Amino acid sequence: MSSPVFKYPNKISLANIPTPLTPLDRLSEKYGGPRIWLKRDDLTGSTLSGNKVRKLEYVIAEALDTGADSLITCGGLQSNHCRATAMVGAQLGLDVHLLLREGGSSVIDGNLLMDHLAGAKIDRIDRKTYFSSLSKIFKEKQNQLINAGKTPYLIPTGASDEVGIWGYISCVSELIENFQNNHINPDLIVCATGSGGTQAGLTLGASLYNLKAQVLSYAVCDNAEYFASRVKDDVNRCLERYGVNWDVNRLSINTNDSYIGPGYAKGYPELFSTIQEVCRLEGVLLDPVYTGKAFHGLLTDIKLGKFSDLKDVIFIHTGGIFGVFPYRSQFKK
Ligand SMILES: *Cc1c(COP(=O)(O)O)cnc(C)c1O
Repeated sequence: MSSPVFKYPNKISLANIPTPLTPLDRLSEKYGGPRIWLKRDDLTGSTLSGNKVRKLEYVIAEALDTGADSLITCGGLQSNHCRATAMVGAQLGLDVHLLLREGGSSVIDGNLLMDHLAGAKIDRIDRKTYFSSLSKIFKEKQNQLINAGKTPYLIPTGASDEVGIWGYISCVSELIENFQNNHINPDLIVCATGSGGTQAGLTLGASLYNLKAQVLSYAVCDNAEYFASRVKDDVNRCLERYGVNWDVNRLSINTNDSYIGPGYAKGYPELFSTIQEVCRLEGVLLDPVYTGKAFHGLLTDIKLGKFSDLKDVIFIHTGGIFGVFPYRSQFKK
């Protein structure tokens, strides 16, 4: 491998990595397409489980560099990112302020329960205000904390910015080691995309490390056009800020937006059946908001013969286990 043209920024160690790569052979055989492998990023921690902790390793390092003693971030009521931030804050002795968007079940369950247990300070914001004035609400919270003598650091939705995406650039180097250990050279890496940071990091990483595999992301909210420009923006900011000499046009940004269903965090019967099937066949639990939708998309596309010429496909299991429980009534008994 030629030596990379970039240097990683500082990070702090929070995630339980490297995570394993495991084949799903019963499922692959049943669907008759490529061999499906899971990158087990649901195993990056117990309370820190999932993809957000890889991004937070870089983002919190920067927060600490700026002398921050408190963190402000935002998301849905059942946000995995907010839960991970709440847990990291408790672990490091930083105050955590969460701006949570109302919607879905308002029972204190799953991630929201964990936010409370970790002592995060929570503002619940109605959807209309959230969508129209989020940056204003961030500013107000920031000023309020500064006036109280605190030094807050703002983390954007999903920790998806030019700092956070380093978490998934570095995941690509980990994947290369997984591939070598398993003697495979996969054609495709699949993940769910929501705030776009995982997709941006993997897509940039695949290009920087000159992988054969393309990255394909299944959208759980916005359309493919949105993610194409979002990923480009975040990557450009990253290249510029860290002085990486790379052309964004070398990236192949691929998004499938056909499996979102009725909307973000809204399920549909085939999705819940897929989650149950994967759990029964492989003992792996996917979530209805992110990984379940993306995996349902992948399996459906395999069934449609879309990937019949591929040998090995990698699915990044980005976590989300605590988000399963608020959907308990929608699974078949
Ligand atoms: C946030 C999240 C994603 C999406 O990652 P982004 O970087 O926000 O696009 C995927 N899966 C799970 C479980 C998540 O919590």
